[in-house]
Amino acid sequence: MGQHSGRRLAVEEDNQRGVTALGRPHPEDPALALDRIERDLALVASGTTGAARHLAQPDSFLVRSLAQERASWDPTLTAWDGIVDVAASAEPLARLRLAGQRSSASAAQGFAECPYRHLLQRGLNLRAWEEPERAYQIEGKDFGSLYHAVAHRLFAELAEEGRLPFGEADLAPLSDRLGELVDEELDRFATEGGIMSAALLGPVRVRLRSDLEEMLKDQVDQAANDPSFVPASFEREFEEVEVTIGAGASVSFRGKIDRLDLSQTTDQVRVIDYKTGKYFWAKEEQFKGGRELQLAIYNRAAKALFPDRDVAEAVYYYATATGEYKRKACPATAEVDGTLTTVLETLDGLAVAGVFPPVADSCRFCDFQAVCGPFRESRAQRKSGDPRLAAFKRLREIP
Ligand code: SF4
Repeated sequence: MGQHSGRRLAVEEDNQRGVTALGRPHPEDPALALDRIERDLALVASGTTGAARHLAQPDSFLVRSLAQERASWDPTLTAWDGIVDVAASAEPLARLRLAGQRSSASAAQGFAECPYRHLLQRGLNLRAWEEPERAYQIEGKDFGSLYHAVAHRLFAELAEEGRLPFGEADLAPLSDRLGELVDEELDRFATEGGIMSAALLGPVRVRLRSDLEEMLKDQVDQAANDPSFVPASFEREFEEVEVTIGAGASVSFRGKIDRLDLSQTTDQVRVIDYKTGKYFWAKEEQFKGGRELQLAIYNRAAKALFPDRDVAEAVYYYATATGEYKRKACPATAEVDGTLTTVLETLDGLAVAGVFPPVADSCRFCDFQAVCGPFRESRAQRKSGDPRLAAFKRLREIP
């Protein structure tokens, strides 16, 4: 009975709200609208001359939306595609440049991945909407943070106790300590509200411990193959690492390096950056079309931290089963340094010219997919011949 009453009520509400050819439900009476969109739909549907006249005003949402939709398929870049009026926006554009700014490697990479995203994030301060239900499961970035925290604490302890490098015989006691650190970090994560209930962390606990134990074994193998380098410094912060971009201009990088290994037989230093995701490098790749700058910047940072040493390389260490414990090295060469400068100069040049196009070739993990909407790849393709994109397109040719 109750069910039938509920259905009848819903049908009556539907009738009241109406479903029209305008594409979404709205009430017949504009006064019953729940929001501005429903009200406008009701006014248009009423057919009363002039009822929806405000929608035709030049600055109305509808007029701007239609202009944006038309412009999005235009073969040239427009104001709707991240083209900013340089003369009218000098001060905001200065903040979007790299020159004269303090930046992180990830911020510069974000700019290189998509200039439009750089504009949305740093120019318009848009942020992803936080979904509270995500707290029921652990996200990749949380797993990465937990992994880094445990690895850092373990290696820092071992360094303080003079137990680096460790060997095969040390693995059993290290495993016990690792278990304690994993438990402590997960407890802290749950206490700080990282997840709804600590009981949900069981699978993460197993994976975290397993990945880290395998990493320790991998480190023993690595030390046997390359005994010279010994882990020496952890979570080392750097700042004011200047990269010159153009005459008299530079960008200043700051950040934190997971680990620095020092050679016991030469004066070299090596950067290690832990990764907990998939290894995604093709042979010969180094900059991935300008998108990957972090290792080249870390080579610069290592030199600033150890000015009396030569930098051998910076290495992404994919230190989990997912990453198969693979390594991707970036040698500290003049050629790598030159390419880094070229990429940064090109990005800075885009900001100077007020050109922040949605290039739509790195959208997979972007928080702004709803902003750019469907068919963004097709629209970007139509605009790819715009001459203002020429320098940026050359970046994509860098392997
Ligand atoms: S969805 Fe794609 S095109 Fe849009 S801002 Fe993100 S990366 Fe750029």
